Amino acid sequence: MAKENLKTSINIDKNGREMYHLMSELFPICRSITGNGVRKTLDIIKKHIPLTVHEVPTGTRVFDWTVPKEWNIVTAFVKNSKGEKIIDFTENNLHVLNYSVPVKKKVSLGELKEHIFTVPEYPDWIPYRTSYYKENWGFCISHNQFINLKEDEYEVFIDSSLENGYLTYGEYCIEGEKKEEILISCHICHPSLCNDNLSGAALAVFLAKCLSQVAPEYSYRFLFIPGTIGSITWLCLNESKVSEIKHGLVAACLGDSGKFTYKKSRQGNAEIDRAVINVLKNSGHDYEVINFIPFGYDERQYCSPGFNLPVGCLMKTPHGQYSQYHTSADNLDFVRPEYLADSFSIYLSVFDVLENNKKYINQNPKCEPQLGKRGLYQMTGGQQDRKEKELSVLWVLNLSDGSNTLLDISDKAGLNFDLIKDAADALIERDLLKECRG
Ligand code: ZN
Repeated sequence: MAKENLKTSINIDKNGREMYHLMSELFPICRSITGNGVRKTLDIIKKHIPLTVHEVPTGTRVFDWTVPKEWNIVTAFVKNSKGEKIIDFTENNLHVLNYSVPVKKKVSLGELKEHIFTVPEYPDWIPYRTSYYKENWGFCISHNQFINLKEDEYEVFIDSSLENGYLTYGEYCIEGEKKEEILISCHICHPSLCNDNLSGAALAVFLAKCLSQVAPEYSYRFLFIPGTIGSITWLCLNESKVSEIKHGLVAACLGDSGKFTYKKSRQGNAEIDRAVINVLKNSGHDYEVINFIPFGYDERQYCSPGFNLPVGCLMKTPHGQYSQYHTSADNLDFVRPEYLADSFSIYLSVFDVLENNKKYINQNPKCEPQLGKRGLYQMTGGQQDRKEKELSVLWVLNLSDGSNTLLDISDKAGLNFDLIKDAADALIERDLLKECRG
């Protein structure tokens, strides 16, 4: 029985709209690499998928790192001498330097300015800044507001805490027919920012939802973790599980209008790399493929030399390459449901390739079998369509000598993987092809 394509019974556009809706719900939460913002986020995600939430205590050694103190924030503001709040965390959580230590004091304009961050190139936007591993306090404001600050005595107040607690992350595993896994990893440590990276989290949730409703061959592991320290922690605590990861993708920056970008795994020619490139090539979308570089998202940890996992990063416009990146302009207007839907569709197509990428043996290898009498020359469709279908049958027959997978055939033929897979199914049905096992 031929397996159905993952996208067959899925309404892609509806999923795009629902992803956007989930992002709108998650957007106002002040997240960081630890703390209640992450817990709240995972609680909302739990309404969609049955996540397991892990809490790793502060001070836990994870390879060369240590799980930091937990950060939480209630409120923060700066008041002028008239008692007017000129900067208010409740208006935008980007206003506070993420991981700021608590502070309550009066400061001069000079001292205040030493703790203020702006983006002069985009004077209306508020930047997103963090200070995870160096204790500091600060505020982020628009450059226009900054240049208009007057000499005055200011009251600064940050009601935050940095105490022993936990690093929180979410994990969801879907058991497939085999133990071998596909890993999908996203970071959930940014406050009110959309493309980087609520888009990755929303995409992961809806992929997980979709996969949990089919019976996949592979097992799937979804990680919702704080960037860097989260993947380091997961890898350290789960080293024994790592060998099951056969393919992986880091999901980030997936809701903007830019072209798709695939950053290859460190291995460079892993099956996941070839599958993504094959899908993008046949997708009709604009795309770019870049080689692995040791900076970016959590692929840096998965692809560190001691692990060297086949994990790439499939995104739209990469981090740092759009001006809205890490500013208040990376908001709900910057991402759109239709782009999220495109990303969702591409990811499902990649899974389809991985799920169906098998080798077959031609059962009639001495000269071509007579296809006409088996109905393989009368497949319906337009002229071009029919030609491609016939070609795909010939390619599958010729290359199915036990050494080529369907992905190899799709690449060599320059034909869409789905067409090759359909041809293989048609040939299996007519006993002209058999799966090559082992
Ligand atoms: Zn970021």
